[in-house]
Amino acid sequence: MNETIASPHAHAVVDLDAVAHNTALFTAATKAAVMAVVKADGFGHGAVWVARAALSSGATWLGVTTCAEALHLRASGITAPILSWMHSPLEDFGPALLANVDISVSSREHLSAVADCAARLGVTADVHLKADTGLHRNGARPEEWPGLVRLARDLEIARHVRVRGVWSHLVAEGMTRLQVKLFDEAVAVARGAGLRPEIRHLANSAAALGAPQTHYELVRPGIGLYGVEPDPRHIFGLQGAMTLRARLILVKRVPAGSGVSYEHDYVTDRETTLALVPLGYADGLPWAAARHAEVSIGGRRFPVAGRIAMDQFVVDVGDAGVRIGDEAVVFGPGTGGEPTVADWARWANTVPHEIITGIGPRVARRYVHACARRAEEPEESLRV
Ligand SMILES: *Cc1c(COP(=O)(O)O)cnc(C)c1O
Repeated sequence: MNETIASPHAHAVVDLDAVAHNTALFTAATKAAVMAVVKADGFGHGAVWVARAALSSGATWLGVTTCAEALHLRASGITAPILSWMHSPLEDFGPALLANVDISVSSREHLSAVADCAARLGVTADVHLKADTGLHRNGARPEEWPGLVRLARDLEIARHVRVRGVWSHLVAEGMTRLQVKLFDEAVAVARGAGLRPEIRHLANSAAALGAPQTHYELVRPGIGLYGVEPDPRHIFGLQGAMTLRARLILVKRVPAGSGVSYEHDYVTDRETTLALVPLGYADGLPWAAARHAEVSIGGRRFPVAGRIAMDQFVVDVGDAGVRIGDEAVVFGPGTGGEPTVADWARWANTVPHEIITGIGPRVARRYVHACARRAEEPEESLRV
């Protein structure tokens, strides 16, 4: 990771107890094993910290996108099984294979690349064959599947690969029934070719909590681990793991009729107090949220006034007695009345995943957990 220069005025508190609580909710909701999805640096929370919290509270697998992400976890001493699922057949799988990382393959070309690499190194690659059951992104199409599993069986006999898993990824709730059917058919074809995958997996957070017919041997929660309810119609009691805070750096009184921020989208309708929050879209706060967004200061909600800029935005606090140095809570678990990640997603017309993974490198992460219910020193808790 590039060296980053942290803001002196803003930080994100990552509550590892919330991650542990959320992991335990997933393990309680299923008989299947739980793979904690820690791609994109643990959805921006710090992959190693989240992985440790999840593994110590019932998760037994980790899921990441790239081999580089998997190797980062291994380098920190994590020995749990890891699946890495997005690759080009042109990449070098050697380091990942030597680090005991399971590789997902979606085509004969990918499988050959992994097997060639394993053969060169004299190791057996653990692979998970991915079926495309409707997402039409990664995964082998039904007509490609028989060829993929035949090749996999040949490579198993040659001891270059071992097919440990067969898996797929869900599109949307309304398609689950069809995808389960296509997935079962893909598994049957694999078995018919002589493969004996130990692990079938299909479910993301929403399905892990709401669709038990998708659980098989393993579920793969991501967003839920971080405390965002995957289906707002059913509240499972997940706890938001990240709280984004910044200290006010300027407070000023302005007369009625004062336009605020670029283009004066916001004009004060009375004499009021404006407070300056030193976070902006370079830190991941969506420009598109400005018209609806609010923050919490001293336990009260106040509206964002005018456009969110690259590094800062203004809050209209009316006649509240706020001062420089007071803390604005941009989002958090919501238990203190502050906005949540889901609120920001709604205000910006996006998904919570984009908000939570977008919080930028200028925002230092501080970690709290039960044995140290205080923010650790930033030097120790900057992103690992
Ligand atoms: C991101 C991801 C998940 C986790 O999905 P959530 O909706 O965040 O729970 C699971 N599986 C795959 C393949 C993913 O890419």
